[in-house]
Amino acid sequence: MERKIYAIKKIEKVGDTKIFRMEPKDGRNIQFRPGQFVKIINPETGEFRPYSIASPPEWNFLEFAIRMLGGKFTSYLDGLKEGDKIEVEGPLGHVQYGGERKCIFVAAGTGIAPIISMLRHVNEKNIEGEFYLFYSNKTKNETVYFEELERMNAEGKVKVVFTFTREELPGFEHGRISEEMVKKYLPAELGEFKVFMCGKMEMVLSLKEIFEKLGVKKENVKFEGWG
Ligand SMILES: Cc1cc2nc3c(=O)[nH]c(=O)nc-3n(C[C@H](O)[C@H](O)[C@H](O)COP(=O)(O)OP(=O)(O)OC[C@H]3O[C@@H](n4cnc5c(N)ncnc54)[C@H](O)[C@@H]3O)c2cc1C
Repeated sequence: MERKIYAIKKIEKVGDTKIFRMEPKDGRNIQFRPGQFVKIINPETGEFRPYSIASPPEWNFLEFAIRMLGGKFTSYLDGLKEGDKIEVEGPLGHVQYGGERKCIFVAAGTGIAPIISMLRHVNEKNIEGEFYLFYSNKTKNETVYFEELERMNAEGKVKVVFTFTREELPGFEHGRISEEMVKKYLPAELGEFKVFMCGKMEMVLSLKEIFEKLGVKKENVKFEGWG
């Protein structure tokens, strides 16, 4: 575990989520595996919250996708500007992508952060396999990484199924990720698949049961739940 100072290089807004890119002051990024998280620390107060890393280990900076909730820590993060410094401690977390070639990814909202780290890693390393992503958001405009995921989908790297709970659009699913929805896209035989999920605890727990019922081995369902 390392603790380092990072400088914020770029902030981008998508709906109520901010994407932060930050570089290590000493030029050496912390070492982690796709799926892990770190503590982001306010250097003035020592206060911190855990955040999943959205960038892959191959990049020389860290990226985070953080929903601005107006809570204690997100209000602090919301006030940060490019050039400001924060501290990062990590990595932490048992949900880690280790090169598996048959994967089902599931994300809701900012739950995409650890999942896109895995997909970017798959892309960087040219890992060939069968990859599916089910990604739920309220609307298309609030969907973080929409264009990047559309591109990965078009290139055939991962089959991406976007679903929107608050709008119906042609070519996209509507409503929460359900058993019926996943069965529509996945092969019948799921015994060799690994599942990585991140989103609200309620969603990941109900989908865990569904995937196990559909034949995914219990030990192959990995998830992180927050919110
Ligand atoms: C392992 C892990 C990884 C995480 N990664 C991310 C990430 O990549 N991106 C991200 O945005 N968050 C992530 N979180 C959540 C994050 O750590 C904070 O809990 C969140 O940013 C709220 O902090 P806050 O101090 O602003 O809110 P608080 O002041 O603690 O709470 C403010 C209010 O917001 C509510 N609230 C808190 N969290 C949520 C939520 N997620 N959705 C809706 N309401 C909420 C609380 O119930 C409360 O009413 C992660 C959490 C864990 C445990």
